[in-house]
Amino acid sequence: MESGYEAVIGLEVHVQLRTRSKMFCACRNEYGGTPNGRTCPVCLGLPGALPVLNAEAVRMAIALGLAVGGEIRERSTFYRKQYFYPDLPKGYQITQGPVAVVERGRLCIPGDPLVRGGDGVVQVGIERAHLEEDAGKSNHDMGRGSSYVDLNRAGVPLLEIVGAPDLRSGQEAYDYLKAVHRLVTFLGICDGNLEEGSLRCDANVSVRRRGAPLGTRVEVKNINSFRFVRMALDYEIQRQTALVAKGEAFGQETRGWDADKGETRSQRSKEVAMDYRYFPEPDLPALVIARAEIDAVRAGLPELPEARFERFLAQYGVSPYEAGLLLQSPAFADCFEAAAGGGLGKQAANWMLGEVSRTLNERGQSIEALGLRPAHLAELIRMVEAGAVNLNTAKEVVFPLLLAGEGTPAAIVQGRGLGQVSDRAPIEAMVLEVLAANPGQLAQYRGGKASLKGFFVGQVMKAGKGKMNPTLVNEVLEQILASEEAK
Ligand code: ADP
Ligand code: MG
Ligand code: ZN
Repeated sequence: MESGYEAVIGLEVHVQLRTRSKMFCACRNEYGGTPNGRTCPVCLGLPGALPVLNAEAVRMAIALGLAVGGEIRERSTFYRKQYFYPDLPKGYQITQGPVAVVERGRLCIPGDPLVRGGDGVVQVGIERAHLEEDAGKSNHDMGRGSSYVDLNRAGVPLLEIVGAPDLRSGQEAYDYLKAVHRLVTFLGICDGNLEEGSLRCDANVSVRRRGAPLGTRVEVKNINSFRFVRMALDYEIQRQTALVAKGEAFGQETRGWDADKGETRSQRSKEVAMDYRYFPEPDLPALVIARAEIDAVRAGLPELPEARFERFLAQYGVSPYEAGLLLQSPAFADCFEAAAGGGLGKQAANWMLGEVSRTLNERGQSIEALGLRPAHLAELIRMVEAGAVNLNTAKEVVFPLLLAGEGTPAAIVQGRGLGQVSDRAPIEAMVLEVLAANPGQLAQYRGGKASLKGFFVGQVMKAGKGKMNPTLVNEVLEQILASEEAK
């Protein structure tokens, strides 16, 4: 970025809450399904239908509020935000008014050394988090030149987390969104599925001369991936910096991110900004939260991801980079911890970030869908440690069979005769056989080509179908070669 200027960014993140039912009715809160199959008079906005607030959504908002060290407001109210859109049957969205259920929290992210001049942790303010309902979804065209409205999403509970303008680069916005994602998934209040829109983000960005008051902001909409947040903001920062540097004034506007073109495009300017004519929702009483309710939620909070990160470093001896990857999802972290017991943290980390991750990437699957029982992985790791099966066989043969559901690691190893050979006698015999079969290489080795030792080990392992204990093979080979030399 041009020197002397800085970007100021604040994100608004919409988090779909994983409640059983919708925000104000008993319809199930689920993704997809037969269009309009999960609707009722309340979420269809039929006249006379009355909303009833979902207590589970309130508890989830409190959990988020406590996790970000925010203030849980004892009394907040709901408002109607009015606008017309085909997927908004009521003609208004129920959202919270001037007082939000959560206010003034914070979330830590790594600062971007490129704009902060040094690394360190940055505390990003959370201005507020308020409850509201999602709209339905318009599906355009669908090959028939028409638009179709699906109201299954109408009334799904949302928690809108409004971040303070404390971010200074696309990278920091990316890290902040990651931190929000990690927090809500580890709190268990959101499934975190970006492809399904479970977490959506609008980014506000302005550019100013360093130290100057806040500049005119642009709101970038339609960002639905971590990568796009960084790309859209990098683009927008460059665009605005060029304008500001030329002294060109521009107005407040809303722009959309076009992922195909890699640019933002103007959607509407301030002049045509909507007046939503907010007014208090007459059909809902104030949301009043008792101390006891907050205490109950606090008592039920899981270990927060930041604390878990620190514990992973201390307890399992993994690096910060590894800990970050191990905390990619609650199920992934849980699987790691189940396998890491008994001082096997390093080994478990290697498996999770090696074989397990490779398989997930290959299959494009989540750990939940993989069908790996953490107890099975733990057993396999212990068998390798105990020398009951060698690491290569465990990775290449036992692990895939485990995923195929062939039984426990012990049963697979026994049933398929994969046990590691750790007896000296058969290994000695195999080493002698290999040396006898390769007189040329043996002569070269004696002539000083020490690297051929690896070749011999490979031949022995191959002849032993990979089941021989590699440490012992090395040891025996060395002894025999040494005694050969002595001859
Ligand atoms: P609105 O009510 O129009 O949505 P808010 O004041 O609530 O506006 O701000 C919404 C978001 O915009 C917040 O995330 C905030 O951090 C961010 N924001 C506000 N002013 C600026 C600015 N000048 N530059 C960048 N972001 C800003
Ligand atoms: Mg806003
Ligand atoms: Zn409903």
